[in-house]
Amino acid sequence: MEIAEIKSRLTLANLLSYYSLKPDKNLRLHCPFHDDKTPSLQVYYKTHTAYCFSSNCKTHGKSMDVIDFILHKENCSKAAAIKKAIEILGSGSTVIINNNPAPVKPLVGREQFLANMFIYFRNAVHNSPPAKEYLQKRNLDFKKIEVGYNAGQFHHGARKEETLINQCLEYGLLIDKNLTARTGEKAYQPFGKWCVCFALRNAQNHITGLYFRSTLNNENAKHFYLKERSGLYPGLSQHPHKKINPNRSYYRCGNPFKQ
Ligand SMILES: [Zn+2]
Repeated sequence: MEIAEIKSRLTLANLLSYYSLKPDKNLRLHCPFHDDKTPSLQVYYKTHTAYCFSSNCKTHGKSMDVIDFILHKENCSKAAAIKKAIEILGSGSTVIINNNPAPVKPLVGREQFLANMFIYFRNAVHNSPPAKEYLQKRNLDFKKIEVGYNAGQFHHGARKEETLINQCLEYGLLIDKNLTARTGEKAYQPFGKWCVCFALRNAQNHITGLYFRSTLNNENAKHFYLKERSGLYPGLSQHPHKKINPNRSYYRCGNPFKQ
């Protein structure tokens, strides 16, 4: 059996159920490949791939197909992972290793992008004393509500990657102001830097907007909405007045700060 055939027969859903892993309603899992406090592993059933958004993860930065998933889960070689895949499929035929498999296209689209970024921002709260301190002052428990923190580092280090930067520019998380970094490289201005961040959701509970509230005491620059704002906090589906216009002011429809 060729790898392509294995991949076409072994679905990600089958693989997850084989390992008794159940994604939540947002198709996220507590990542089995690192010590994961919030579900960081996003599952993509359309492409049969998974991606871990934690920078603490050994798989971080790489989309995993079913074979990669087995490889990490079993901590084995690629050849052993292929054998295991066949075993899972319940077949014993010979494998021809195809070294040039068709690349799996990463999922794009604004909603997917916002969902991914929000996972990243939520994870960042755990490592940010200023964010925790700010939330505590506002009586917001980050373990109970969905809140993130934007340190403005989301396009740096291991995350620095052309696709991510282009998506951030397209959806407004990075702004091109013709800046040059000290290294001589092109630099971008992050949107909503040093802000806590909330997801605005539509009736399907998909993230359709992000709201940023500055943790700095700047009276003139406190509230920032990502461009093409829509959705509500904590979500239209959870809102008592369902006839509400989803584009109406965030503040009148569920302010997490309860002012
Ligand atoms: Zn992980």
